[in-house]
Amino acid sequence: MRKNIVAGNWKMNTTLQEGVALAKEINEALKTTETHCDVIIATPFTHLVSVVNSVEASRIGVGAENCADKAEGAFTGEVSARMVASTGAKYVILGHSERRAYYHETADILKEKVTLALENGLTPIFCVGEVLAEREAEQHFDVVAAQVKDSLFNLTAEDFAKIIIAYEPVWAIGTGKTATADQAQEIHAFIRKTIAEKYGNEIADNTSILYGGSCKPSNAAELFAKPDVDGGLIGGAALKASDFMGIITAF
Ligand code: PEP
Repeated sequence: MRKNIVAGNWKMNTTLQEGVALAKEINEALKTTETHCDVIIATPFTHLVSVVNSVEASRIGVGAENCADKAEGAFTGEVSARMVASTGAKYVILGHSERRAYYHETADILKEKVTLALENGLTPIFCVGEVLAEREAEQHFDVVAAQVKDSLFNLTAEDFAKIIIAYEPVWAIGTGKTATADQAQEIHAFIRKTIAEKYGNEIADNTSILYGGSCKPSNAAELFAKPDVDGGLIGGAALKASDFMGIITAF
């Protein structure tokens, strides 16, 4: 059966020292808390080694927030999937709406990143989601289906089965506006159906689909109670251990 997962996305926040302190605080809190989900934290590249070494791998999986679309070579400033994997990180967020919007990451670029991540043993947390104008024009189903198909449906069934999906309506990210639990359930079920049409029911049923967008301790339980919402990708609320723990314990 698919896993329940709560994953934090720290974005471009925290110094190395602050990040290590936060990771340790979450690790300590998890020692004394009964949980019903896997916990992942995705940190800036600069923090990966230190955070990997500061937490217990059995309690927290560590991930990067991005990786390059090239394997290696003369790409100044880029960080490859192989480099990420060499830190001990196990996950990588790909296709986040901020990367799509501000760094012009297209479906084809993301396809390359997904392939390189998988080749290097990283589990992609692949983000999809519509902008407000697309939701208002009722295009969100088409937009999300295209994002899933255009960057992932080239994968073999064996590789697709390794992917975690995060549905993150762009209008809900960092805005305080959350999709209602019914809105999340509706589109998560649609994503699962889209996967089933290509890869079959077993793989679709085993794919974890996380919700992201202003998820916080006060709304997590309602969202996670929906049958197709398998957890959350958490931005702002992942930067405070007590809030992040409040979301983890919503399961
Ligand atoms: C995100 O950026 O992945 C996210 C969900 O952000 P926030 O929780 O702050 O809306």
